[in-house]
Amino acid sequence: MKYIGAHVSASGGVENAPLNAAEINANAFALFTKNQMQWKAAPLSAKSIEAFKENCAANNLLPDYILPHDSYLINLGQPEEDTLEKSRAAFLDEMQRCEQLGLKLLNFHPGSHLGKITEEECLNLIAESINITLNKTHGVTAVIENTAGQGTNLGFKFEHLAYIIDKVEDKSRVGVCIDTCHTFASGYDFLTPEGYDQVFADFENIVGFKYLKGIHLNDSKKALATRVDRHDSIGKGFIGIEFFKRFMNDSRFDNMPIILETPDETIWDEEIEMLRKMIKK
Ligand code: MN
Ligand code: MN
Ligand code: ZN
Repeated sequence: MKYIGAHVSASGGVENAPLNAAEINANAFALFTKNQMQWKAAPLSAKSIEAFKENCAANNLLPDYILPHDSYLINLGQPEEDTLEKSRAAFLDEMQRCEQLGLKLLNFHPGSHLGKITEEECLNLIAESINITLNKTHGVTAVIENTAGQGTNLGFKFEHLAYIIDKVEDKSRVGVCIDTCHTFASGYDFLTPEGYDQVFADFENIVGFKYLKGIHLNDSKKALATRVDRHDSIGKGFIGIEFFKRFMNDSRFDNMPIILETPDETIWDEEIEMLRKMIKK
């Protein structure tokens, strides 16, 4: 079964996110558990945690299909030591917030070398950051998102994801999230049936579907291999509707959160309905 939702607002408290998801008829959702543009946040209150769990349960939103996203400030491959420590502390806080909310996944961008260290050194730092965090937490899987490869961001090749996973000690708590906009913008051409089969065969061979924990389903405002990260609404960008039809009928993407991060939130309910209607009975 396909579980589809969007990255909904948690404004006013995390407990509002499941209500916002229910409003668009979602059976999956993503959220920030704190302000994504700030380093520090007040701890989650017991009241807020309880309301979050109640609102999820009341709307049949299960932790397996909830994909929280960490702060954009965190860089787990940060070359400067003091800032790396700051990132690692913030990432640990994000993981602990997920633990408190009874969530199982935490989605994050691998990191950026900032032109100061090699790709390999940066990937090593990222893996080390993950190991440190997993050692201090329980039950939450670190879900690495592939990127468009803007600037000095790593994670734009399946090989980067595989390299990091290889160095993570607890393989049972590491996974990946494929963002379709990022995949396309970073140069993977999955538009034709042959291209689609090839890209996901490569993913299976290099990373492995067993590590796939979630999807960000976005069209792209930018062309193939531009390495520019600009999401578009489903069917309105360079990826186009045929890809999404193929995707919705591909059982390899069953039973994991499929999250829209498309720019027009006023049509999320329509996008979800359109995607569900693509499934051939
Ligand atoms: Mn992301
Ligand atoms: Mn994404
Ligand atoms: Zn993006």
